[in-house]
Amino acid sequence: MQALVFNGPRDIRYESYPDPELRSANSAILKVESCSICGSDLHMYHGAHIGKTQYGEDTPNFCVGHEFIGEVVEAGSDVHGFKVGDKVLAAGGTGCGTCQQCLTGNVWSCRKSTAFGLGTELQGGQAEYVNVPNADRTLYSTDGLTTEQSLLLTDGMATAYFGLTRADPQPGGTVAVVGLGPIGIIAVELAFLLGASKVFAIDPVASRREMAAKLGATVFAPGPDLGGQIMQATGGSGVQSVFEASGAKGAINSVLPLVARQGTASFIGIPEPDDALSLPLIMFKNVTVRGGICDVQNMWPHLVPLVQSGRIKAEGLFSHHFDLSEGAEAYRLFDSREDGVTKVTISVD
Ligand SMILES: [Zn+2]
Ligand SMILES: [Zn+2]
Repeated sequence: MQALVFNGPRDIRYESYPDPELRSANSAILKVESCSICGSDLHMYHGAHIGKTQYGEDTPNFCVGHEFIGEVVEAGSDVHGFKVGDKVLAAGGTGCGTCQQCLTGNVWSCRKSTAFGLGTELQGGQAEYVNVPNADRTLYSTDGLTTEQSLLLTDGMATAYFGLTRADPQPGGTVAVVGLGPIGIIAVELAFLLGASKVFAIDPVASRREMAAKLGATVFAPGPDLGGQIMQATGGSGVQSVFEASGAKGAINSVLPLVARQGTASFIGIPEPDDALSLPLIMFKNVTVRGGICDVQNMWPHLVPLVQSGRIKAEGLFSHHFDLSEGAEAYRLFDSREDGVTKVTISVD
């Protein structure tokens, strides 16, 4: 098959790669129809870290991509919820499907859980075909969903919901979203949906601030004065729920000064190994800090009805479109933030 393959930092190539084979009886093979690139893919693209993995020239090649939708073309004997011909989206990561954590629905607590397309362990779906283990828990029917909605449900929208709700937003409360990539923009929309009275949205890119402002947010550019501006905007009390949606070092460091006493800060961006938070700021303001990786599957029961009923729009997030053969350029553009790029779709045919 043809696939986008990691050949080293900033070196994603469209090239032939061995076809996937059913790896277990609970696996399915998808023929991929569409996929997208995620901000977390850029850690790999930059040769940085994801967890303990540092991506370098000597990293073995693998198919990239954890946001993809397609059609089931082969299903193992232990797959009961899906059959050949079903159109599906896949969660960005999965577990074994047989341990206690997987069987009780906490796939991300499985010791074998991993995202697709971050190494040879679980090949990615920016490819013509991909093997999906634990298919019954990892796939979801795309009936009634658009391609863009389906792609967002593979990770971005789920991660936005997970990260935002872990910041404990309250009806009538205040929310700040730091980092206005697609996840941050969706979080702004969700924060209003969950009853926030005010949403502060922070990003260095003006076009991204404009998108958040259109959703009703009060927007700020980051800078040394950000804490002071937010304090002024909140009558000196700070923000009750702060959600950091980028993982950028400067953004991570900007969060704690914004949080109100007894407030909550939630982190979902992939940190570098030396990223740290100030313990005195946490201690003396009684801040609750949460971080974690989204169990995408567990967000679907909340999000799919909101998408289907039109309560979440998540519109205008896909700015550019490519074919799989143009994958290297898709990564370059997405990384450059040029041309107002927010999120890209890649067609596989
Ligand atoms: Zn992602
Ligand atoms: Zn498991």
